[in-house]
Amino acid sequence: MTGYADFYRRSIDDRDGFWSEQSGMIDWRTQPTQVCDYSRPPFAKWFVGGTTNLCHNAVDRHLITRPDQPALIAVSTETNTEQVYSFAQLHAEVQRMAAALQALSVKQGDRVLIYMPMIAEASFAMLACARIGAIHTVVFGGFAAGSLASRIEDASPVVIVSADAGSRGGKVVEYKPLLDEAIATSSHKPAAVLMVDRKLAPMPLVAGRDHLWAELRQAHLETQVPCVWLDSAHPSYTLYTSGTTGKPKGVQRDTGGYAVALAASMKHIFCGNPGETFFSTSDIGWVVGHSYIIYGPLIAGMATIMYEGLPTKPDGGVWWSLVEKYKVTVMFSAPTAVRVLKKQDPALLSKYDLSSLRALFLAGEPLDEPTAQWISQSLGKPIIDNYWQTETGWPILTIANGVEKAPSKFGSPGVAMYGYDIKLIDENTSEELTGPDQKGVVAIEGPLPPGCMQTVWRDDERFVKTYWSSIPGKQLYSTFDWAVRDKDGYFFILGRTDDVINVAGHRLGTREIEESISSHPNVSEVAVVGVADALKGQVAVAFVVVKDASGLGDEAAKLKLEGDIMKVVDQSIGAVGRPARVRFVSVLPKTRSGKLLRRAIQAVCEGRDPGDLTTMEDPGALQQIRELLA
Ligand code: AMP
Repeated sequence: MTGYADFYRRSIDDRDGFWSEQSGMIDWRTQPTQVCDYSRPPFAKWFVGGTTNLCHNAVDRHLITRPDQPALIAVSTETNTEQVYSFAQLHAEVQRMAAALQALSVKQGDRVLIYMPMIAEASFAMLACARIGAIHTVVFGGFAAGSLASRIEDASPVVIVSADAGSRGGKVVEYKPLLDEAIATSSHKPAAVLMVDRKLAPMPLVAGRDHLWAELRQAHLETQVPCVWLDSAHPSYTLYTSGTTGKPKGVQRDTGGYAVALAASMKHIFCGNPGETFFSTSDIGWVVGHSYIIYGPLIAGMATIMYEGLPTKPDGGVWWSLVEKYKVTVMFSAPTAVRVLKKQDPALLSKYDLSSLRALFLAGEPLDEPTAQWISQSLGKPIIDNYWQTETGWPILTIANGVEKAPSKFGSPGVAMYGYDIKLIDENTSEELTGPDQKGVVAIEGPLPPGCMQTVWRDDERFVKTYWSSIPGKQLYSTFDWAVRDKDGYFFILGRTDDVINVAGHRLGTREIEESISSHPNVSEVAVVGVADALKGQVAVAFVVVKDASGLGDEAAKLKLEGDIMKVVDQSIGAVGRPARVRFVSVLPKTRSGKLLRRAIQAVCEGRDPGDLTTMEDPGALQQIRELLA
């Protein structure tokens, strides 16, 4: 067996040879003629000349060897339903969905927006798009009308697939009114809407536009829809993520590179074998859901669990009961979920037979040592932290135990993954930091490996400007994360360099929340910062200067306005973006040139030293915040 150091070195020094070997893990209709075309940096084209299909690799190719094996296990503790689809059944459902989309005139290259709860039909829709070469854009079901509208606007979908409602903790969340409102406010109107009726909420249909999945499914029970062989570079999907501006970016991914990257990661990183069960507790609205609920496990011939519900209902043992029942071998979750479970009765962990489980992977936010220690001791299984981004689609830093077993270090997601030529860059000099324990920005030398974003949807310039131009004098991809690397090559992530915050593993742009709050008629100025939180990692806290303070004489009036502002955020972004607190101040800390000093505010909120304040316009502004928090 090759050691990981050699494996990694080869992935950088003999890039084409390395990835050519990895590409053998998936089925190609036409073999690629060139491994990587990097003639137009930073745009990389992987597996040029190859044609393939994600749905074929995730579903069809398993029909010969494992037609009756479970492929999709849809569990909802909200509706108390559990349904297992074999690969053959999944294949049939995906074809019906593909036929329904085609009946609604979806063609190759068209966008299909999926705004759905965690139900089986959502995965049928994603796979059906991949099957016919339509580009899916999944929008997290927790997003409200405003966020949804901006995504409809940018993606301009031909069809939107949705459902009457989701459910969270027994509370029905109606999707249809939000969807109708979003379509009404967007200048782009989809030609058709395909609705799954779960019978959780009333669902008035718009005549001529809205169609019922149940009816179209029935009409296409036996329709065969073959996979369309797509150029490796054909976009498979876009997924919106937050950045430093208020406008979310559509991260665009290819087909061939993504399939290879996922197949390789399932082998080298997640060590998942065909016939086993993978359980990722994320949501299809996030990148983990795309890579490791839907495509990755299925490409590897594994069954995948889609879970709708809370980790604590009916009790905190529900996930472990699924591990026992479905003999889960690989599990993937987020530190926040573990912190929630830590508050539950510890006996729930020993109640179930977890002998099938080999490892728990955690990602999305920093994994703090107490959380890691607790879950590692409670489960008695390896806990594997992994660091990556929506943009990369698969881990940048972790431990590739499938290549060579290596220890994890608490507080570190691990070492550079194969294919990622990582450089730590000094913020002031742009020089590479090669010594141990030096703090720098995590950057990646191009080309980004297969599976990473191709560009920003319809905005090549934004791709170059946002990701490849922040380090003066060098064209490097910036992750916008600080880190140090120790003498053994293990990285320790120290936080973001930009205005992005991470709440319960979900990435949010403070600007997006600020824009939403600014739409309240009595808000003059606002600053949103991420503040450390024991449960969620970070929470958003808003500092607001009001236009008219005359009505804010007492605490009750302030609380009322705070609630009103939170409601505005709920309605435009969704509850995920809602600040934990809204505080009222008469002035915000800014530099003399008018730039908001978010990091200084954040430091004060966390009881840290705000650093050099010589450029500050009004030193009293921070004092006001200190007094508010005292
Ligand atoms: P997202 O694109 O929403 O997955 O967010 C990516 C960001 O989350 C990264 O740039 C990091 O700031 C943070 N992140 C993700 N995984 C980890 C991890 N394992 N440790 C520390 N931070 C992480």
